[in-house]
Amino acid sequence: MLLKDKVALVTGITNDRSIAYYIAKQYSEQGAKVLLTYQGERLKEGTEKIAQEIGAAGVYCCDATKDDDLKNMFGDINTNFGGLDIFVHAIAFANKNELGGGITNSTAEGFKLALEISAFTLINMSKYAMPLMEKRGGGSIMTLTYIGSIKALPSYNAMGVAKAALESAVRYLAFEGGPKNIRVNSISPGPIRTVAARSIPGFLDMYNNFAEHSFMKKNVEGEDVAGTAVYLASDLSKMVTGMVIFIDGGFHCNGF
Ligand code: NAD
Repeated sequence: MLLKDKVALVTGITNDRSIAYYIAKQYSEQGAKVLLTYQGERLKEGTEKIAQEIGAAGVYCCDATKDDDLKNMFGDINTNFGGLDIFVHAIAFANKNELGGGITNSTAEGFKLALEISAFTLINMSKYAMPLMEKRGGGSIMTLTYIGSIKALPSYNAMGVAKAALESAVRYLAFEGGPKNIRVNSISPGPIRTVAARSIPGFLDMYNNFAEHSFMKKNVEGEDVAGTAVYLASDLSKMVTGMVIFIDGGFHCNGF
């Protein structure tokens, strides 16, 4: 039980293919009190079913761009759970227009939306999470990024820029959180077939070609990402912060 009695907030569950689903499940198996969020009414029922399945301790409706939702949720966590130990940010979004074609398709509105949801929400949610972690003597924050932050990929466009901003935000949050014993990291998995991923034009080609270029010659599964998320949440990683950790079987450093 690596996470016994730790309070863990896990965002970004759409269904049982979501990366966050695998993370929440393994957190629960490791003894954490897991709190889930869903973005809006459409996802309520599914998330409540998953909460039951994994034995979650609570479910919150939370649109990460709405300050009122954040205030209510973090306020409730403070009152009912006495603080927070772990926060998983698994949130990203871009309009269709900003994915596909070339990056010059981006509009100011669409670009801002991708940056706001996919990068700024980590900063804003950490603003609420950090004081709750300080109360417990420290904590661990992590987010999900993608190799499109450092390499130009077909169709990823504005989301690649947003992921670069997200990774930079991780370093600044790690800088701010360090003296409070709060660690902040990002996990960068290879392609996994989720709702968000499938909205990227050409994603399935990327997915199908991945194994050939990975040293491990296979695709990444949700469980693989969750294992690293457990490590980052636990004391095993107590001096690890500001990192981008690739879970891609070596794909990121393949030179041929
Ligand atoms: P997913 O569709 O299951 O999850 C994305 C989640 O983001 C959804 O649950 C959605 O509700 C949430 N979200 C979007 N806007 C939100 C908002 N305003 N407020 C609250 N929640 C909001 O897909 P996923 O692939 O599991 O995505 C999780 C994270 O993993 C994302 O950051 C994604 O970029 C990242 N990632 C995915 C892959 C992949 O191949 N699937 C690879 C690398 C990184």
